[in-house]
Parts: sequence; C-alpha cells; structure tokens
Amino acid sequence: MDYSKNGIVKKHKLLVSSGRRISTKLVINIFRIFMLFLLLIGAAGVSLGLGVVSGILEETPEVEQISIAPSGVSTTVYDSEGNEIEKLVASGSNRIPVTLDKVPDCLQKAFVSIEDERFYEHNGIDTKGILRAGASFFMNGDMQGASTITQQLLKNNVFANGGSESSFGELVKRKVQEQYLAVELEKNQSKAVILENYLNTINLGAGCYGVQAASKRYFNKDVSELTISESAVIAAITQNPTKYNPINHPEENVKRREKVLNNMKKNGYITEEEYQEAIADAVYDRIQTVSVESEQDSTPYSYFVDELISQLLTDLQKQKGYTYEQASNLLYSGGLSIYSTQDPQIQEICDRETSDPDNYPGNVYYSFDWKWSVQRADGTTENYSNVDLTYYYKNLLGQSDFKLIYSEKEDIQNCIDGFKAAYTKDGDVSLGETIMYSLQPQVSFTVMDQKTGYIKAIVGGRGEKETSLSLNRATHSPRQPGSCFKVLAAFAPALDACDMSLATVYNDAPFNYSNGRPVQNWYKSYWGLNTIRHAIEQSMNIVAVRAITDVTPELAYEYLLNFGFTTLVGEDDADNYGGANDVTQATALGGLTKGVYNEELTAAYAAIANGGTYIEPVYYTKVTDSNGRVILEANPQTRQVLDEDTAYLLTNAMHDVVTEGTGKLANIDNQYVSGKTGTSSDDYDIWFSGYTNYLTASIWSGFDENTDITKYCGNTSYHNRLWSKIMKEIHDVKGYTYEEPEKPDTVVQANVCTSCGYLAIDGVCDSVKTEYFSSKTIPTESCKCHIKYTICTVSGKLAGEHCPQDVLETRIYQTTFQGKNSYDKDAVYALPSEIQNGICIIHTQ
Ligand SMILES: [Zn+2]
Ligand SMILES: [Zn+2]
Ligand SMILES: [Zn+2]
Repeated sequence: MDYSKNGIVKKHKLLVSSGRRISTKLVINIFRIFMLFLLLIGAAGVSLGLGVVSGILEETPEVEQISIAPSGVSTTVYDSEGNEIEKLVASGSNRIPVTLDKVPDCLQKAFVSIEDERFYEHNGIDTKGILRAGASFFMNGDMQGASTITQQLLKNNVFANGGSESSFGELVKRKVQEQYLAVELEKNQSKAVILENYLNTINLGAGCYGVQAASKRYFNKDVSELTISESAVIAAITQNPTKYNPINHPEENVKRREKVLNNMKKNGYITEEEYQEAIADAVYDRIQTVSVESEQDSTPYSYFVDELISQLLTDLQKQKGYTYEQASNLLYSGGLSIYSTQDPQIQEICDRETSDPDNYPGNVYYSFDWKWSVQRADGTTENYSNVDLTYYYKNLLGQSDFKLIYSEKEDIQNCIDGFKAAYTKDGDVSLGETIMYSLQPQVSFTVMDQKTGYIKAIVGGRGEKETSLSLNRATHSPRQPGSCFKVLAAFAPALDACDMSLATVYNDAPFNYSNGRPVQNWYKSYWGLNTIRHAIEQSMNIVAVRAITDVTPELAYEYLLNFGFTTLVGEDDADNYGGANDVTQATALGGLTKGVYNEELTAAYAAIANGGTYIEPVYYTKVTDSNGRVILEANPQTRQVLDEDTAYLLTNAMHDVVTEGTGKLANIDNQYVSGKTGTSSDDYDIWFSGYTNYLTASIWSGFDENTDITKYCGNTSYHNRLWSKIMKEIHDVKGYTYEEPEKPDTVVQANVCTSCGYLAIDGVCDSVKTEYFSSKTIPTESCKCHIKYTICTVSGKLAGEHCPQDVLETRIYQTTFQGKNSYDKDAVYALPSEIQNGICIIHTQ
C-alpha cells in the first residue's frame, strides 16, 4: 500500500474519475458472478473435478503437514533462579495460550453462536450458510459471514496472507484450498481441538490474540472467570477487531454483543433470565477502569533485558542465519523461553545502591533531552533539539562554558523558553515538544562471573528508566577509561611478552611523548626509580607511558583487541577520526579516541581474574522454543589473553591498590580484592574496575555531557565507596567467604633490590622486597645499582691503601642506573663528586 501523501492523492484522483468508476462497477459485477459460481462449487463439495479446481488443489498442502497452532505467542524471560522476569511481546500484541478446559462454556458458546452457529454439526464447510450468504451477496452485495470457525482457523494459521490476497485469482485460490482443507481437517481433528486452536488464535483487538490475553486485557481476570456478559463482549469483537474494540468503540461493541446474546438464547445456550441479567450488566464501565490501570502498569524493560534482547537478536542472526526481521519475529512472538544469567539478588542490590542518593555527592544536577517541532507560517516544519540549544547559547550568545546541566528543573525551563523566544516567529504553530530529565552525575555498573562470562547484573543509569531500549550507559556509552587502562595496555603486555616483571624499575622523571608533549603525573611531581608494582599501586603515569613505549603501542593494541574491546580505533581507521587512533603512547593512560564500554572493561578485568582467559560476556544460558527444544545455547568465545603467571602477578599487584594505593576506598574488609582506579583527564570520568575470587565488577560515574566532576561534585572518590558497598553486600548475601587467588606453581619468589629489580645483595641493598616472579622472568643477576665504598673520613675520598683503619667508613651509594638520571628521592644516593674524583691524597705513605 502506498500511504504517502502523493500516493493517496493519486488514488483519490483515480477514484473520482468517471472511467474508473464504471470499470470498478463492472469488476464488482463480474466478481459477484464469479463468487456465486465459487460458492456453488463450495456448496456442492469440492470434488466436482473441474479442471481449474483440481489444479488449485494440487498445490494445496497435505492436511497432515499443516499446523493449526497459533503463532505469535509471547516469549518469557527467566532469571538465574527460574523466576519469570519479563514477557516479550510483539509491539502492542499479546497472546497467552490456554487449553479448552480452562475456557468457560459460555465463552465457547458465545463464539459459536456469533461466528458459526452450526459448528458442531457441519463437516468443515457450512453448506446451508454458504447458500444463504451467496444468495444475499448476489442479490444486494451484502457480504455475510459464511466462513466457518474451521475455515477462519485455517485462514489465520495456514494461509500466510489470509484475507489480504494481492489479486482476485489469489483470493479464489485461497478460498478453494481453505474449503478443501477445512473438510480434510475435520476428518483428522476433533471439534474440541479445532475450537481450542481457534480461541487461541483469534485477533481480539488492542493487540490481544486469543481469549486469555483478551480476558486479561479487558477484564483483568483469568479467562476461566468470565461471565456470560463478559464473554459476549469478547466474542463480539471477532468480526472486526478495530470497529468492535470495546475500549475505543463500546457503542459499536454493544450492538454486536446484543446479537451474540440473542443468538445464544435462540440456540438454547442461555436462559431468558441469564440473557436479561447479561443485557443489564454495566460491563463497559469495568473495561474502562481496567484499561487505565493496565496502561499505568506497563513498565519499560530493564537495562538487563534490553541488553539480553540485543544479544539474542545478534546470536539468532549469527548462529542461526536468520535475517533481523526473522530473529525479531521469533523473539517477540515465537513463544520462547529465555533462561537469562541475571541473578535476582545481585541485580536488586545493584539497583538499590546505585539509585540511593546517599551514595552520591550532595550536589544533584539535572540534564535533559529536549525536542521541539514547529510549523512556520509558510508550512515548513523545523525541528530543534539539545544541539540547537547548545549552539544558540554557546556560539550565538557567546556563553563559552554553557552546559546542559542545571541544579534546578526551573532553570532548564528558562533555558528552553529563552531559546523558543528567540526562534519563534509570527504565525508559527508548535507541533510538539518533549523533554526527558536525567539525574547527574550518572552511573553505570556491571557485575560478571569471571569463570563463566555470565553477566549477573547490569545498571545502565540512575533515576527512573522511562522507556525500553533507552540509553544504557554500561553497554552503549563509550567513555574514557583513564588509568584503568594502565594495567591492560602497558603492564599486562610488559609482563606477558616483554620479559619484564613486577620488579622492573622505571625512572619517574620528566618524560615527553614522542610528539614532545610532557607526560604529567596526578601528583604533579616525580618520584624517581620505581617498580611496576609500585607504579600500579600508586597509578604512576610516567612509568606507564615509559612501559608502553618499550612494549610498543602496536603490541599494546593487539593485547587490547584480545581483551575484547570493540570501540578502539586502529591505524587503518584513523582517517575516519581526523587522524586520531589508539595505537599510541597515550593509550597507556586510557586517552582513547572514543573510549570503552563499562561492560567490555569488566570483561577485560574478568580475563585477568580468570587466570588470563577471556570469556565473552553472556546474558543467557539457553533459549528453548514452545515445545521445549533448545534453539540457542550460550557458547561464549573464550581465549587465552595472558599467561596464567601474568594474570596471577597482576592480581597480586592490584591487591596493593586497595590496601596501600589509590583504591583504598574500594576495599572490602572480608574479601581479597584486586582492582584499579581510573580518572580521565579533566576529571570527566571516574572508574573502579576490580574483582574478588568470585565476581568482577566495574563502576563508572560522570556527567552524560563531559563535565569536571570535581568542580561540580567536590570529589572524585564516591564511586570507590559505592563499588565496595555493593560488592560487600553481594558477597555477604551470597555467603562468599574470604578466598585468595590460587598461585600457579610456575610463580616463584625472590628477594630483589627495589631500585633496580635485580637480586638483592645482603648488606648492600637498602630496600629489599620479596617479589613474585614467573619462573621465566626471575632475575639471575645481582643488584646493579648499589655500590659499597670504603671512605677515608679525613680526606672524604675513597680510601687508599695507606689510610689508617680507624678513619675508614663503609658507605653505600647508588650508581646512575641503566643510564637513567636519578630523580628527587634517589638523589641522596648519588655518588658525591669528591668521591668520584678519586682516592685519598692525604695518606700517601
Ligand atoms: Zn641494590
Ligand atoms: Zn639495585
Ligand atoms: Zn685517607
């Protein structure tokens, strides 16, 4: 159908032209004659052996092979405990199958009385009805229902286009096949089976298919509880579900309902008394009340279900070869059972804590999504949104720091009113305006089981979720990961593939990116020689950038792809991003072109938690069809990203982050926690990604529109507390007891000098640490930075062979290590120049 304005105008012109009118009339007459002919064939049975009919019948499917069961059954989603959490239904449609014994006799008889009075007697086609209908049709073109319940069932469930054939020939063909199959079907199936399928199939308006859905929708009760009066309302809808919809058109439904009740009485299914009682019933008042309530009850899908749907649509296409359309039909009306990975307890804790205002800074802000359509006097329409607001205030009014962030909703209205005043002209008609507010700062949270890849809970934002498939900040907003990337991009490949260890030392001293821009530390100073372990604990930028420089950004990028990130920009894609890409030194600090999704960051950390094996996150375990057959089973991709040793070492080092380092607020008193904090530049994003022996979780917080969190909220650490609070509650509720990660046998210990990372020398090295190593990278050489000298205290120079014993002193100095200049704290160990200048010249003999 061409519903475009032009199409309609064209059609209208054709209809009013007289030539068209004549030919239409002619066609109708031919149609009538042909229909009569056809109806006679039907009346006489289909075994006349006419060539045309037998040809059509040859193409008719075998009755054994057709399915009269209704399609379009809603899909049910279960959580990990088997509780039903959601019903997926095709947009505005609903179907709940019910067996005939649950359908009250009065409802069955109401349908039979209005749709097919001789249902219990005929053999599939109603000859008497056809003859009467045919006569009436031939005489005055009045189309009367001659189609039996059996035929209606076939039309709905067997003939895909039943009722909307593209040509007259197709219609004839379908009619002939339908009559033939109706007779065959009645030979094969009982009246009860046919009626049951019919009652579950029939369109009953307001998106309801089948009597159970209609009963719930119009009367908010089970079909078995319907009264005679209510049954008559529902049976009255069938002939024209739009016209007889009892919510929108009670005045039409009431006429048809009276006919239903009359027929029921006439056929002896109800008594005069029952009839009078039903007629007197104020049934439409009840429908209106239920209707209002059910509108309010309809709640949008949760963030978890949104994402589950998206994953299922992808998997049905990828694994089953369906088109998007087919996958979507199956999902929303295939009567599937989806067994999700959502843990109801964990999700409840996440929802409760992330929505509790007490877990956020006191300053609450609002952002908003605004749309406005206005029709100008000349008939053109213009649409405005947030983008136009920002342009107006920022560029036209010169408010350079303008942001769509306000502490009062009232100020938002003023902002919009100001814009509208500037853009409204005489003769404008406002066509519509919508505004949706969102609380700021926002949050996202993902909980995943690192051993299975199961997403246990997900939070895509705080504040009321107003629509299904709304912005999910955990899976659809890429954000800068900041220092959460140090471990993934720099230290993981350094340990895994570049012969480095947690004891490897880098000099935290002034250092520039290859483009000459200096790298800054968050503490705005330099700490000298530091191990990778300490650099992880204290989130040291220069060490991370020096490490990725040695690792090479190319290898780092390869590791990141293996960790499952899909939002990175490679060098070959840089042209699409103004030359920017993520194969750079800045990637070590999470300075990315686009950013990462919370869900993917969680999966990457989960790979470390899982001994180096990455598992693609999954939202379901299996999906079965309405017959209980498994049609999809979660089969997440897994791959070894890191050596088991590397994973253990990083886990061990990241434990220091929560006990000694930048993530102390995220620690949990009765769990072994490993994790990493992250703050993006200008304090736009704050993160903590971490794990216990049981679960991995990441929290992100920030403003939807990039904004300095410190400036607006006063601090950037509330998210660490929230991570800890949620995870502690989860572990306590689940009864997870303290458990340390299991150390691989190939991880060994050695005492190292923390200034150079080589084996410590007793009595010489002043800072010694027992460090874990992969047996592959354990150091074999001794300290290279500490040197013990004997000094003559009289001359202050190196002792010579003639200096007396009692003026000698042993001192330890640090050499310039690996050619790197010592900085700040190491300066005190530097070899004084007078010593460098040689041997005592006082005691010469
Ligand atoms: Zn040493
Ligand atoms: Zn050393
Ligand atoms: Zn001397």
